[in-house]
Amino acid sequence: MYLERLSLTNFRNYVSLELPLGPGTFILWGANAQGKSNLLEAVYLLTTTKSARASNERELIGWGAMYDPLPAARVTGELSRGGERTRLDIGVVAEKVEVGTEVSYNLRKQTRVNGVPRRASDVVGTLNAVMFDPQDVDLVIGPPSSRRRYLDVTISQMNRGYLKALQRYGRILTQRNHLLRAIREGTSPSSQLRVWDPPLIEEAVYIHVARRQTLYEMARASTVIYGELTGSEESFLLRYLPNPKELYEFEAADAGAVEEMIRARLTANVDREIGQGMTVVGPHRDDIQFEVEGRDASLYGSRGQQRTVVAALKLAEVNLLESNTGEDPILLLDDILSELDETRRRRVLETALGSEQAILTTTDLDRIDEGVRSRARLIRVEGGRLAGGV
Ligand code: ATP
Ligand code: MG
Repeated sequence: MYLERLSLTNFRNYVSLELPLGPGTFILWGANAQGKSNLLEAVYLLTTTKSARASNERELIGWGAMYDPLPAARVTGELSRGGERTRLDIGVVAEKVEVGTEVSYNLRKQTRVNGVPRRASDVVGTLNAVMFDPQDVDLVIGPPSSRRRYLDVTISQMNRGYLKALQRYGRILTQRNHLLRAIREGTSPSSQLRVWDPPLIEEAVYIHVARRQTLYEMARASTVIYGELTGSEESFLLRYLPNPKELYEFEAADAGAVEEMIRARLTANVDREIGQGMTVVGPHRDDIQFEVEGRDASLYGSRGQQRTVVAALKLAEVNLLESNTGEDPILLLDDILSELDETRRRRVLETALGSEQAILTTTDLDRIDEGVRSRARLIRVEGGRLAGGV
């Protein structure tokens, strides 16, 4: 799949941008702080409907537009997928709320497909992209939540049912946690748990089985790719650490057995959960471990090994999305060339050139092999505008 065109309005430092794209490799180049990463962020927003960088999505709205009566950032992409055209629009709108002299903002997000409003969960999976960026090493060294989020975004791109299950699970979890606290405080009877447990277990089983299947495929692919990237015998293993951990012993994803185990662990932990006012059993506590030569790469891996782990993982993700959807995802490579050594860089660039559409950023064109440069279109970015030409 590929974007035919990308339009931005008041998105970060782009006041207005019309960028014709198409199949092939594009290199965005320019000095620091010109808008290269912002542009990739915009494409990624069309993938997940969420920013990969902003902690508060108000940050997406161009500063100049914050004085507008209704400040808004818009991203529009025209996607070509299997010969079919789709127009995706995402608007982030900040409604000003003034109470006395205090000004705050209510943030609204509008998502449209071919002009028709859609829920975010119905849009994810339309445009598939894989982002490589220097912060990715957080996947290895960061908290478990960053690995779960990565996994969730990957699976959601292939399986819309997964995202919906995840959302339902999140809502049930919130309500069940409220109930656990009420039981602890004596304002609700513990028999109430019988209401929430069956739906909780149902979604937990679905999430566990989907994660297990995806990680099984990802582990196989990433081990092979890791070997290719390092050209050595160094072994690499991706391991799923499910919660409850007893699920780890299971050979295959037998939904019936998974359900029994989760129910048993919930029953065994009921007093602890009431004591903590929190659900402690379930996939919201899952993790993934990366092992190089049998040791946890987050603790023992060198920075280079951690980066290689991430590169292997992302390249495996590209394969996985391709084999599960029949379409090449769009590759977004943010300044990765400065992060990887020669062999790894070449392998990542080969994948980029081989995919239907790839967008790379760099501050330094000389870093990119002539062979790649000559097959790519160069786009110069300067202060939120395209400066055109080389
Ligand atoms: P680098 O090479 O350093 O990674 P870059 O070209 O990737 O640079 P971006 O991260 O895209 O740079 O940021 C470009 C500029 O956008 C920064 O100067 C930043 O201050 C600015 N910026 C960020 N958010 C907004 C916003 N909401 N409105 C206007 N400008 C913004
Ligand atoms: Mg950048």
